[in-house]
Amino acid sequence: MEKLYKYDTHVHDVVCSLCGKSEPEDMVDAYAKAGFSGFCITNHFFLGNTAVDRTLPWDQFVTAYWEDYLRAKAHAEKHYPDFTVLFGLEHHYAAGKEVLTYGIDLEFLLKHPNLHEYSIKDYCAAVHEAGGYISHAHPFRDRAYIDMSYELDPSNWDAVEVYNHYNHPEENELAEALAAEHGLQRTSGSDEHHAERGGVGMAGMAFPYPVRSEQEFVAALRRGDGRCILNGVVEE
Ligand SMILES: [Zn+2]
Ligand SMILES: [Zn+2]
Repeated sequence: MEKLYKYDTHVHDVVCSLCGKSEPEDMVDAYAKAGFSGFCITNHFFLGNTAVDRTLPWDQFVTAYWEDYLRAKAHAEKHYPDFTVLFGLEHHYAAGKEVLTYGIDLEFLLKHPNLHEYSIKDYCAAVHEAGGYISHAHPFRDRAYIDMSYELDPSNWDAVEVYNHYNHPEENELAEALAAEHGLQRTSGSDEHHAERGGVGMAGMAFPYPVRSEQEFVAALRRGDGRCILNGVVEE
């Protein structure tokens, strides 16, 4: 059987997400144990459920995210040399809607002070200019904190998160339909906030080769080399 390299695309921790429950090291341990080759850490950003002090100067605020990522990365390098931690963000832009952002780094964040004040169109344009990639997180999640009447603009995105482990199945089905309608790529992510809650290993992307950097991850997504992991099963 063909060897696949699995990466979760949507992972939180307690250091930078207020809803996070586990330390970054514990998330690495859990995914390594589940046989994954890595994950992208996507903590809630400035307008979302951040655990980082918003009154900090911009450079200190964004550096907190980078240092959290470096913590996870250092732990992986020490214990699981084949495991790759990737940097990302889950950016809340309006009405409870959030985009997963890949392929950016600390330099990008330092170069864009007040990134959270950009319109979603300008945010996506800045990410794309830096070579980054946008997948809309759980576009049809229906919860009290999300305004379901908000009109989505898929023209800004590269992909749609068609499988979110903590969505209801019908919410994921609507996301699949949206991706198909607009010809967008598809991603799968667990949205796990807890190393022991059960979402670890149930979602993510499976590639036929390892991805070792944010750039390689984005390139592999763009080429369409990833297969979605749907409820623990790699799709055909
Ligand atoms: Zn959260
Ligand atoms: Zn999330």
